Amino acid sequence: MRNGGRPMLPPPMKPAPFHYHAPKTIEEAVATLARVAPDDGRVLAGGQSLVPTMAFRLARPRHLVDINGVAALARLAVEGEKLCIGACVRHAAFERPVAKGPLGELLTEVVHHIAHRPIRARGTFCGSIAHADPASEWCLVAAVLDAEMVARRARGEHVIAAKDFFDAIMTTALEDNELLTEVRLPLLSADTRFGFYEFNRRAGDFAIAMALVTYRLKDSKIAEPRVALGGVEAFPRRIANAEAALDGRAPNADAFAAAADAAAKAVDPLDDALNTADYRRGLVRTVVLRALERAAA
Ligand SMILES: Cc1cc2nc3c(=O)[nH]c(=O)nc-3n(C[C@H](O)[C@H](O)[C@H](O)COP(=O)(O)OP(=O)(O)OC[C@H]3O[C@@H](n4cnc5c(N)ncnc54)[C@H](O)[C@@H]3O)c2cc1C
Repeated sequence: MRNGGRPMLPPPMKPAPFHYHAPKTIEEAVATLARVAPDDGRVLAGGQSLVPTMAFRLARPRHLVDINGVAALARLAVEGEKLCIGACVRHAAFERPVAKGPLGELLTEVVHHIAHRPIRARGTFCGSIAHADPASEWCLVAAVLDAEMVARRARGEHVIAAKDFFDAIMTTALEDNELLTEVRLPLLSADTRFGFYEFNRRAGDFAIAMALVTYRLKDSKIAEPRVALGGVEAFPRRIANAEAALDGRAPNADAFAAAADAAAKAVDPLDDALNTADYRRGLVRTVVLRALERAAA
């Protein structure tokens, strides 16, 4: 493969031929993307989702804009009350807490459910967000914490709230010519409790259903509850009825059961060859209950 956007001479290879671009700065990356996006140009981050689909020729991008050489995108920093995660920060970065307090612990708990170590060493947080698999753990984190996605194009950047970012299965508000440069997560106050529970049949598989909950305690009552589900619907989202069932109540079995029931009623689960909608709805009750129990433990 030759750099500079020239086609390679064709030794036999698994993916369809493509032009390879290796920008060194964010400006160069977005300028290249602006040029090649109309000709089926795609960003290459960790390659852990894109490359397998190219190998099977299910995806045949004509251009790849490889952002791995853009040093500025490896930034992982706390700024004010936000954790800023650059586009080249790998999953593995979260295997140890990257921020003080509950947020760092939450990310460390969740990351161990993503695939396997070699994939975590290469795949990126932002790549997962841009790819928007319904069962992506990072998309669930983004939904529950109301993350901010920073989208950059040649003409400037804008920030997209998580609730407006995920549109459908593997479909987001990002335009083809936009680079997701950074995702920002709010730091969590020291008294925030969290619980995560994922169900799948083998460790490392994508979740069939998973729940992530956070809340605080005020006068021994639940305050600011957040309940989100992933792997269940087309994209992860917060479940308002489940949150309402918790708000202001003592964190006990009755409140947790009410929230789990509310969540199971509120969802419109995916139905596929392996898992029916009814089966997933049943799982929703279980994963919400177990996530809440973990938060309270
Ligand atoms: C065997 C296996 C098991 C896996 N299990 C899980 C799992 O349990 N949970 C899970 O969440 N994931 C899982 N994955 C997917 C993995 O986490 C990927 O790393 C992730 O989905 C995509 O990140 P990436 O950096 O590899 O993106 P890439 O594969 O490089 O890109 C994916 C897509 O996102 C676009 N993209 C990437 N970065 C950007 C950006 N910054 N701006 C705009 N567009 C961008 C690309 O153009 C492409 O369309 C698994 C993968 C494999 C191969």
